[in-house]
Amino acid sequence: MIIRRTLTLILLPLIHTLSAQHPATHPRLVSGVLDNGLHYYIYPTDMVKQQASYYLIQNAGSILETDKQQGLAHFLEHMAFNGTRHFPGKELLDYFEKHGASFGININAYTSFDETVYNLSGIPAHSDELIDQSLLTLYDWSTGLLLEEKEIDAERGVIVEEWRTRNTAGRRIYDAMLPILYNNTRYAHRTPIGSMEVVKNFSPEALRRFYRDWYRPDLQAVVVIGDIKPEEIAEKIKTRFSDIGVPEKAPERIFYPIPEHKETRYKMATDKEINQADISLVIRHPRQVAHPDLTQYLHREQLRELSLSMLNTRLDEMSKEKDCPFRSAYVYYGRLSPLTDQFGVRITPKPGRQQEAFKAVTDTYVIAEQHGFSLPETERAMTNMEAGFRIRAEKEDEMSHDKIEQRIQELYLYNTPFTSASVSLERFRELRKDVSNEEITEVLKQLFRKENRIILVTGVENENNLTEAEATQILHHSESHSWPAPEEDTLNTDLMEGITIVPGKITEETYLKNIDAYTFTLSNGWKVHYKFTDKNKGEVFFSAESDGGKSLYRPEDIPSANYSTVVAQASGVYRYSATDLNKLLAGKVARVALSVSETTEVITGYGMARDLETLFRLFYLQLNHPRFDREMYDQKIESLNDSYQKYYKKPRNVISDSLSLAVYDTGNPRFSLFDKNYIEAISFSRLQEIYHERFDALDRLEMFIIGDIEEETLKTLLEQYVASTPSSGRKEQWRDVSVPWKHKSLVRRIPVKMETPKSTVKMKFRNAAAYNFRNQTLIRYVADLLQLRLTNELREKQGGTYGASVSGSLSRRPSPALTLSVSFDCDPEKPEELIQIVNDEIDKIKSGNISDKELHKVISAYAKSVAQSKNYSHSAYTRMYTYIRDGYDLDSLHAAGGFPETVNKEEIKRFTRKFLNKQMKHYTLTFEP
Ligand SMILES: [Zn+2]
Repeated sequence: MIIRRTLTLILLPLIHTLSAQHPATHPRLVSGVLDNGLHYYIYPTDMVKQQASYYLIQNAGSILETDKQQGLAHFLEHMAFNGTRHFPGKELLDYFEKHGASFGININAYTSFDETVYNLSGIPAHSDELIDQSLLTLYDWSTGLLLEEKEIDAERGVIVEEWRTRNTAGRRIYDAMLPILYNNTRYAHRTPIGSMEVVKNFSPEALRRFYRDWYRPDLQAVVVIGDIKPEEIAEKIKTRFSDIGVPEKAPERIFYPIPEHKETRYKMATDKEINQADISLVIRHPRQVAHPDLTQYLHREQLRELSLSMLNTRLDEMSKEKDCPFRSAYVYYGRLSPLTDQFGVRITPKPGRQQEAFKAVTDTYVIAEQHGFSLPETERAMTNMEAGFRIRAEKEDEMSHDKIEQRIQELYLYNTPFTSASVSLERFRELRKDVSNEEITEVLKQLFRKENRIILVTGVENENNLTEAEATQILHHSESHSWPAPEEDTLNTDLMEGITIVPGKITEETYLKNIDAYTFTLSNGWKVHYKFTDKNKGEVFFSAESDGGKSLYRPEDIPSANYSTVVAQASGVYRYSATDLNKLLAGKVARVALSVSETTEVITGYGMARDLETLFRLFYLQLNHPRFDREMYDQKIESLNDSYQKYYKKPRNVISDSLSLAVYDTGNPRFSLFDKNYIEAISFSRLQEIYHERFDALDRLEMFIIGDIEEETLKTLLEQYVASTPSSGRKEQWRDVSVPWKHKSLVRRIPVKMETPKSTVKMKFRNAAAYNFRNQTLIRYVADLLQLRLTNELREKQGGTYGASVSGSLSRRPSPALTLSVSFDCDPEKPEELIQIVNDEIDKIKSGNISDKELHKVISAYAKSVAQSKNYSHSAYTRMYTYIRDGYDLDSLHAAGGFPETVNKEEIKRFTRKFLNKQMKHYTLTFEP
């Protein structure tokens, strides 16, 4: 991967001319092949207006490397951003950043065993120039990388740091398992990150050769997805890419088979930093080639999905039962390599219970294989699946560019049919009519074949890990046993059975003209703000909050407060356990979640508009008839007790706790460390009291609801399920119980034990500030500016880190404050040098040393994200929420010529100086081996 970056959202969140189209392709897809063998795929969609995404799929990856080339496929991928024929140096990033795109978010790539994929995503497509430059970029990637020696040398350090950042315990275990998983084939020695010896020492010519050998049109596909005209794009592609020639002595693109084996193989691996065991049973299958008949193909896929989903439901239900030996378990089917598929069973056992867990899961599988599933189970699973297909069909126009690209990639690389969702829905409805239990058991039998089995155990040191002999014996016992059929389960009831509701009233209705929304005042005193939006068709979302939260409790009650909603929701609601609830809600999309935050209690809901009544019923039940199951509480406590003892094996946990200790000296009593005392403080009776205190008779609740729902429908349901809930009228206030950082300025080095030596640097700056739109915008600009600088200085110039991440925020409660955070991993020799650079860059911004180009880039990125967010329903929520809470209309603030567009250097300078003035608090902590 070229760069890892977390997304920070501000406001939210061919026509084949020669042959007839294969019936298995999506009607909207335009595709073709040029004479030189290059494939192209074009898919028009205006899901996001005036944007397009461009991809280059390279049918080559690390598997094609020789021993001496280990790591070059991935190295090459990095070089695509370090100089091409039409974009020398860093001009490529520079060009797209000027148009609001961000490195790591819009511009990225990844390398895998068998493919390398480059993307320019969400690029503005309103001008021919942008479309041409985007295609020119793909062209340069396909044939015009410069691969200059000085750029290669500068990138070596970045890749070593990428290796360091990724070299976690999980990664080391994976490496140890590879030879077994891939039966000692080439795959075992071709992890894309490669050999650091090769990375540090290869000659530029070796990289150029790999490029010449494998980057050629017969192994490439160009993909364009977005708000574009397919015919125009097809012409542009033909003009641009037709002149690329295929080298005469091009090596053959080999696909490496994984030989079969009869016996079951086993591998156990441990690592000092692993604190949770994990057991996998993998069974390899020759890759199923797509059936030429589309209906048969889809039925085969759907039947498998149905069978596995029922098994997964059983395993999930078991995991919620008392004394279940595993925390979670699931089965899956997918591709392992181009020629091989894998069926897998994955188990997370409870500590010390690996053998029991493995037995419970294999028994469950064999029982299903012998008896299939009951009629009600099958009906529920099919109802759920059909609902899923229906939603996909209804919302086909909303498929994201990346999702579409994945389907096209599967089509290009593996010939997997890319059909429209409505075809899948139709075929599923046919399948549903006459699917038999025998067909389902047959699928399960085929998947659980005896050959090619592999058992992979991630063990924990000093634990009784599952041995090869035990695993074989358990499997043998399960499979040779004749199991009795499980009992039929039936649940014929209604969610609201036995409840009589006396509806309330809407007593007042106000139209908010500025934002085209309504406020309803209910007879219980609550307020509901509603705005219609169908950017996401058929969806509905709400959040409801009331002041109070954890701020009203003493520190010793915090653990119980944290677990009050966790235990309640794991227990289900009213008369129904979580398992029963899943059964009752088959085919419906309606979810309600509760939480107690620092200063509020919050209820959020999401669902399909046609399930709105179910959504409100869940809201009503969760407030008026919560359920607290002692068993669920015991399970949570047991799981916490298991994990805290091994918690500090992970350097990440040591870092976060030592950070808190350093910043608050003896720790923050309101954020207690994860230890025995914390767990003991979670009381079953106290957490129920707190839940009732928070959610019974909420006073002054305000709900914000948006979605594809009509006003009249909403009003009826509000009176029935929301206005009918009692309110206390007690006018509760939240309190400021924040604990300040102990030090004004803290710079400290803290030792942490770890297997791969690396330093982790965490810096934070904080100061009081007014809560307003201006400050919100400016802190984002400062963070974005610093991000650009650090990518350039720390990564590109120093090769000192795989990437630094910067974030800036303005929080409202308890008192308004600005925060700027920087964190990165690096070579243990380098943190001081790099910290100095960060401080220097901050000082430069403070002194107004900002170029016009940089400023233009961050302003464009902001404008682009604003424009993009308007394609989604959530933007209506954000707009309504800020209008009511903060009193400003984001749409008018974001209008052309507004403040965010006209910010100048002087304003950023003044803002940064005021933010980082003498009152500012700051820490720089270096965690080192
Ligand atoms: Zn990378």
